Amino acid sequence: MTVSYLTTLDLDTFTEAAHAIPYQKVRSNLFPGVEVWIRRDDLLDPLISGNKAYKLIFNLIKARELGVETLITCGGAWSNHLHATAAAGARFGFRTNGIIRGELRPELSAMLLDAERLGMEFKFVTRELYRQRNQQEFLNHLGVEQHNCLYLPEGGANFAGARGVFLLGKIIEATKPIRFDQLWVACGTGLTLGGLRAAVNSFQVCGVEVLKAGGSIRRDAQRWLSALSTSEACRCDQAVAKDVDLMNEYHCGGYGKYPSQLQAFQQAFECQSGIPLDPIYTAKLLYAIHLKANAGHFECGTKILALHSGGLQGRRGLQLDG
Ligand SMILES: *Cc1c(COP(=O)(O)O)cnc(C)c1O
Repeated sequence: MTVSYLTTLDLDTFTEAAHAIPYQKVRSNLFPGVEVWIRRDDLLDPLISGNKAYKLIFNLIKARELGVETLITCGGAWSNHLHATAAAGARFGFRTNGIIRGELRPELSAMLLDAERLGMEFKFVTRELYRQRNQQEFLNHLGVEQHNCLYLPEGGANFAGARGVFLLGKIIEATKPIRFDQLWVACGTGLTLGGLRAAVNSFQVCGVEVLKAGGSIRRDAQRWLSALSTSEACRCDQAVAKDVDLMNEYHCGGYGKYPSQLQAFQQAFECQSGIPLDPIYTAKLLYAIHLKANAGHFECGTKILALHSGGLQGRRGLQLDG
């Protein structure tokens, strides 16, 4: 197998790398009665990986076509999206400008230190100001220079981002090693779930909410699903009415919460499978499958594909024993 890193910015290189992603069967006693596989999109590239890479690709190509010099985006001190954007900027020759939620802390997080080394410039804004991030006036308000810039919303959640995830769904359909019954994915905004749901027709797509979101993840996922389904760019092959499957009982107390049961599960999983997880997203994803399997919720022999959506840089944010 050849693994191509994202050395040049073009869709062919990216698609080739995405086609080469391994699917790994999990050998473990944590999922009784269920066959669990993982698609290792954490391995797409050492720095531009996981679902954030898919959300970025069409944005980056557009930025290059428009002759954009600077990518502006925003996120928290541990944002995987900011990390990937800083890396992509350094790799492909864009300046990057990160608007960071929260006042400057005396010590930068490991994520922000990476982003700084990769050349990202920061602007720290209060949480109150940050709430206006989706409004037209936000950048003006902050006095951010916008000449020759492209603004990417938090998490890369725009239509170009959804197209990238749609591409991932089509690649999964084309490269899956066996017939799966279900594809499982961790949800923050729900864009990845919506994009995959739009692209995948041969099995169910199930999302696990990693935060207490009320109904917002479902709404967003549904919104991206319909935007893609009706778009020319993606020309959906089946005009069937699609809905998203979403589980909201596995957030373990909320975003970033990492109770001891989850820690113990992650350690056992990593020890048995040899696959590292991130504590915010993918640990909760596999934990949800584990709890469901133990509760006997799956038909015996159900074949599940879990998406490893990356985020491993975030392991440095939480203390893992051992
Ligand atoms: C951002 C992220 C997600 C969530 O993606 P959404 O499209 O916002 O739902 C899942 N996993 C990882 C590792 C992420 O960084």
